[in-house]
Amino acid sequence: MKNKKQICPICEKGELKKGKIQETMFGVNLGKFPAQICTKCGESFTDEKTTIAIEKKAKEKGIWGMGKMTKIAKSGNSLAVRIPKKIADYLNLKEGREAFIHPEKHKIIIEPN
Ligand SMILES: [Zn+2]
Repeated sequence: MKNKKQICPICEKGELKKGKIQETMFGVNLGKFPAQICTKCGESFTDEKTTIAIEKKAKEKGIWGMGKMTKIAKSGNSLAVRIPKKIADYLNLKEGREAFIHPEKHKIIIEPN
């Protein structure tokens, strides 16, 4: 079988080369996985087998499905965000615990003390 040159579908300029990518999810290191990496833009592509392996690792670490939609509610003059139980358990958050909250670009960072 001839090895055809694979062009990056994102930038359409670079070539895809075999390499390894460092995968993280919600800031947790999941390890290195094989991927096709663009020589120009650096975009990486993983095959189905690798995608499943990444999912498995995220499940092992207990962070799979941790990202969820939540609704912002009104609480007096402030707004309140409901923190899903899974995230609260993972971070060992309890009612009454203090946290430092601040904006970061278009995100909100909540850092439990
Ligand atoms: Zn590219």
